[in-house]
Order: sequence, then structure tokens, then C-alpha cells
Amino acid sequence: MKLRKIIIAGAGIGGLSAGIALRRLGFEVEIIEIAFNLSPIGWGLALAPNALFALSHIGLAESVIQAGSVIRRVQMKTWLGKTLKEIPLETLEARTGGCVVTLNRSRLHALLLEVFGESGLHLGNAASCYTETKKQVVLTLENGQEVEGDLLIGADGIRSSIRRQLFPHAKIQYRYTAWRGLCSAAKLTNGTYLSVLGRGTRFGCTHTGDGNLSWYATYLAPENQVITSPQASLKRYQNWCSPIPDIINSTCDKAILHTLVYDAEPLSTWSSQRVTLLGDAAHPMTPDMNQGAGQAIEDAIILASSLEKSSTLQEALKLYEFYRIKRTSKIVKQSRQSGQIEHSQNVISCSLRNAIYYLTPVDLLLKQLVIASKFDNIYSR
Ligand SMILES: Cc1cc2nc3c(=O)[nH]c(=O)nc-3n(C[C@H](O)[C@H](O)[C@H](O)COP(=O)(O)OP(=O)(O)OC[C@H]3O[C@@H](n4cnc5c(N)ncnc54)[C@H](O)[C@@H]3O)c2cc1C
Repeated sequence: MKLRKIIIAGAGIGGLSAGIALRRLGFEVEIIEIAFNLSPIGWGLALAPNALFALSHIGLAESVIQAGSVIRRVQMKTWLGKTLKEIPLETLEARTGGCVVTLNRSRLHALLLEVFGESGLHLGNAASCYTETKKQVVLTLENGQEVEGDLLIGADGIRSSIRRQLFPHAKIQYRYTAWRGLCSAAKLTNGTYLSVLGRGTRFGCTHTGDGNLSWYATYLAPENQVITSPQASLKRYQNWCSPIPDIINSTCDKAILHTLVYDAEPLSTWSSQRVTLLGDAAHPMTPDMNQGAGQAIEDAIILASSLEKSSTLQEALKLYEFYRIKRTSKIVKQSRQSGQIEHSQNVISCSLRNAIYYLTPVDLLLKQLVIASKFDNIYSR
């Protein structure tokens, strides 16, 4: 299909992946990004095999694997240090043909930026609203400037202004509080992803392949809680098993980020005539299955492929939604459910959760992860 120009709002992981995939197929792309600098700060991001398969379509899987750390095992413990499960990831690798990698988000971003380049990337420009007709879509920026194109892709993240205009009824829902940190302390065996469960609280950490250890600490708390300092909020982990207190204490405050975690009920459509959504703008999900970035990259590859294969824009957007909405909706729900189970609060539900993890065979625990980790690729059909 011939399109004059595609506008993408947002140069995050999804927007840049889409820009690269579309250019590789010969489309002209312009990306509008609100940030003046694409920040070098970042925290650990786990990418499952599906994310790497999708990245291989834009030539980036190998460099991502080399930049990160391959996870060989997941260790699940209680906050007192009792091992609930050791999950070797060979089964996942054997069933999907790929591995799980963690790397610094800023490294992934930098790799995507390097491939997309500066041309067609407009930093410091906020997408505000759009108007569409049968013939074109016009994106208005906050500074009043207008950008015309044939298709607008809203890849502007969880608080997407494009989604707000397209689906004003769609609201994000707060789920829990997260702190993320990065330290250089090597207090964990390489290739291990440690996940530790408490009562309404959780801690996890892994290496990011650049000499750093990335960690997260999550807990249930009101959305409007007052935050004083990271260390004051993280006091609740001081009597947790080793190496958690050491990891938190050896992280300086400026390497700790506070985030509120949201998701949203899945939408049944993502598009209008000339506007569609991608990544967190389309399907905000909690990070409990480590799939947000992976699904954004999959969206990018499938949208580009749908546009190439179809003879009309309407047909392409239908094909894109057909391949993406069902899969991402399922992952949104599974992530939410997994977050609810892992943040169990009362003694009985925590004991039940721990017993389930302890007694369930590894194969069964990996089932959902294996399904999510397969990239159903329409390129190959
Ligand atoms: C605590 C936490 C841990 C996570 N861990 C993982 C993990 O381990 N693995 C994983 O796969 N995912 C993880 N995720 C999710 C992952 O970070 C996101 O799903 C992913 O970044 C989504 O990519 P995106 O491009 O859709 O959005 P983003 O990466 O958020 O990019 C959106 C871009 O749009 C820009 N923008 C916003 N508004 C405008 C506007 N009006 N105009 C122009 N530009 C705009 C932003 O500046 C940004 O550059 C985690 C998320 C959280 C909160």
C-alpha cells in the first residue's frame, strides 16, 4: 500500500521500533517526541524471547543480547529467605527457541535511536490533538504547529494524549507503588533473577550486563501517599533476607526512582480511520510478566507488516488489531492477576500463595510465560 507519510507521537521503545520497522519497508516516518533529550537514565528491563524475536526483524536482537545479561534461572524466596522455587530457564529456551535478557532500558533506547537516526525525529515537541478527514490526518502540537500525514500512530505511553482523544472513556487504574534502583554491588550470582515475596510487598533484582544490578521494590499503598525520601519508604525491607538490605543501602538516592504502577481495561478497538495506538498507549499493563516493552515492539513489527501487506489503510488497521488486541488483552489480565497474587496481604493468602509456588511443578509455573514468550509472526505467513 502507498502512504505518503506516517506520523508517530512518542519516541519511546514502541515509537522508535515502529519508526525503524516502517522505514525498512520504505515508508516515510516522522516522530514527534515531547522530551528535549532522550534521557540516558534508565533501570533494568527484562526482555522475554518474544521481544528478542520481534527485535530480530529490525536487526537488533544480537546487539541487545550482547548489551545485556542472559537470565539462566529464576529464584523465588520468601522475605525470610526460604526458597520457594528454583526455575531453570532451559525449558523456556527449549520451548520458545529464545532466551530472557535484562539490560538497562536506556541502553535499549540508545540502540533503537542509533538505528533510527536524527532525521525525522523532532524532540521537544508535544503532540496535543489531531483532526482527521478521509484524505489525511493533521496532528497539532502544543506549540500550535501542525504536522500532516496519512496515518497517526499514538505511541505516547501510558498517559497518551492520542488515546485520550480517541477513547475519552478509557481510564488508567492505579495498582501499586514501585521503587526501582541501580547499584554496582555484585551481590547476586550472574544469570540469576531473584524474586522475593512478603505480605503486600515484593523485591526483585538481576544484573543488567553493564556491571550494574537493577532492583525493584513494590508494595500496596494508596495512590496519593505522601513520599518523604526513598530510604524512609524502603525501611520496610531492612529486616528482609540477604542480600536485600545490602543492595538497598548501597544504592545512592539519585539512582532510585519512584513510580506508580497502572494498567487499564483492554480496549476492543485501537483505531479510527487514520489514527491508531501502539505500546502502553494501546494496552497499559503492570510489569508483572515483564512484557510491556516486548508487546510494544511486537505491535511495531506487526503494524508495519500489516501496512505492507494490505491494499487499503482500513484493511491494514483491521489486520493489526486482529493480530494484536486478543494477545495483548490476555497479557494485561495475566499481569494484573500475577501482581495481585504476588502482593497477597493477609497471612492465609500469603501462606497459600507460597505453598502453591512451592508445590507447583516448574513446567506448570512456566506455562503462561512460555505462551507469552512466543511471537506469532505474520511476516512468515
Ligand atoms: C516499574 C516498571 C517496570 C517495568 N519493567 C519492565 C520489564 O522488565 N520488561 C518489559 O518489557 N517492560 C517493563 N515495563 C514496561 C515498559 O517500560 C513499557 O511497557 C514500555 O516502555 C512501553 O513502551 P512505549 O514506547 O509504549 O511507551 P514509553 O516507553 O513510555 O514511551 C512513550 C514516549 O512518548 C513520549 N510522550 C509522552 N507524551 C507525549 C506527547 N504528548 N507528545 C509526544 N511524545 C510524548 C514520552 O516522552 C516517551 O518517550 C516496566 C514498567 C514499569 C512501570
